[in-house]
Amino acid sequence: MSEIIEPLRGMNDVLPDEARWWQRLEAAARAVFAQYGYREIRVPVLERTQLFKRAIGEYTDIVEKEMFTFEDRDGLSLALRPEGTAGIVRAAISNGLLHNQRHRLFTFGPMFRGERPQKGRYRQFHQIDAEAFGYEGPDIDAELILLSARLWRVLGISRVRLEINSLGTAEARAAYREVLRAYFTAHESVLDADSRRRLGGNPLRILDSKNPDLAALIAAAPLLTDHLDAASREHFDGLRARLDAAGVGYTVNPRLVRGLDYYSRTVFEWVTDALGSQNAVCSGGRYDGLVPQLGGTPTPAIGWALGMERIVMLMQELGCAAPAELPQVYFVLAGPVAAAAGLQLAERVRDALPALRLETDIGGGSFKAQFKRADKSGAAVAVVLGEDELARGVAAVKPLRGGGAQEDCGFEALPACLARLVAAAPVDDGGATRQDPGR
Ligand code: ATP
Ligand code: MG
Repeated sequence: MSEIIEPLRGMNDVLPDEARWWQRLEAAARAVFAQYGYREIRVPVLERTQLFKRAIGEYTDIVEKEMFTFEDRDGLSLALRPEGTAGIVRAAISNGLLHNQRHRLFTFGPMFRGERPQKGRYRQFHQIDAEAFGYEGPDIDAELILLSARLWRVLGISRVRLEINSLGTAEARAAYREVLRAYFTAHESVLDADSRRRLGGNPLRILDSKNPDLAALIAAAPLLTDHLDAASREHFDGLRARLDAAGVGYTVNPRLVRGLDYYSRTVFEWVTDALGSQNAVCSGGRYDGLVPQLGGTPTPAIGWALGMERIVMLMQELGCAAPAELPQVYFVLAGPVAAAAGLQLAERVRDALPALRLETDIGGGSFKAQFKRADKSGAAVAVVLGEDELARGVAAVKPLRGGGAQEDCGFEALPACLARLVAAAPVDDGGATRQDPGR
């Protein structure tokens, strides 16, 4: 045998037991987006490295050390996308979507960052992104937050709380940047190497440092909130009023700056206390300056991204329901003639009952072995077809859970009989709490 090939660090396989939670999240998100009129956009995973450098900012962790970049055969520098917004803005510009138009969009997909893998932090991870273009006022900021809050309710997610902040306009931030630069320059001797580099580039980034030695210095730094321009303050007050009116709780965190340079005005983050240190499950903000920065017609824009792995972990941690996927009916087919006939009969039942989950025993084996598999499958009802039943034109139908006698049922009447028995079976939790006993 050849040597096995190891998976890459920080890149996960999602196995079927896990995938059903992903399906639940995706289906719920699609349904909620449809409720609010958001439409799907799909963009490439590979883009020119230049796109992310210009959009996310040269002095961010992502661009400085986390991007997967390589040269193609023509020497063009390409990058696996580390986030979704830059590609969507690029696509909106490339396809002329921003000429006096408004768009509410969403996308799903893998993102790549060369971070140190740990629980809740991977090198390939997945995001659901929502983005809105062409809306200036705080209504859309509120709508995007309400949409995310609705998604938590639909999924049954509790233990998340919202933090918001305003970064002001680019001009207000430029002024604040100088205030910060002066402050950190006065304390340059205690800065670490990363922060010292950022002092010249973008001192705001120092506020996002995770170095505990800098925590006290950062806590005492001048507040952005005190340097907000009047229009941004009014915008922020508007958002707060709308969240208050909708009954969405939040705290204002004046230190929330986010890890990407393109934000202006509103930024927000949903955090949880249920996942340990990887506590951000959904984050976003306004990026009114990004479209022109990437060569497009100035267009106000705002969006958020949620980390699918972290939401799936949260759903599991909180015992939220995953969709049922265990079979409801299991066909036991004794002998080769019954096996062939059973395949046809199962097709007829599926035609009649499209929502029924029906599994046939494939590959035969003894009657006893098949029955064991039927029991283990989690199905509510077994249908037995042998030479004897075939000769009589019936199937033997046996409830597997909660008792109930075996009965014979003609082929024509079988769908109705199965529908009745499945409905009457003791409620199956759909395997939501079942840890798959040896299937
Ligand atoms: P963090 O502070 O945890 O590094 P971030 O600020 O880098 O998060 P964003 O770039 O805003 O995160 O991405 C949005 C969401 O994507 C995050 O809230 C998080 O849920 C998720 N996320 C970010 N990086 C990773 C990763 N490496 N692995 C898994 N999920 C991630
Ligand atoms: Mg990060």
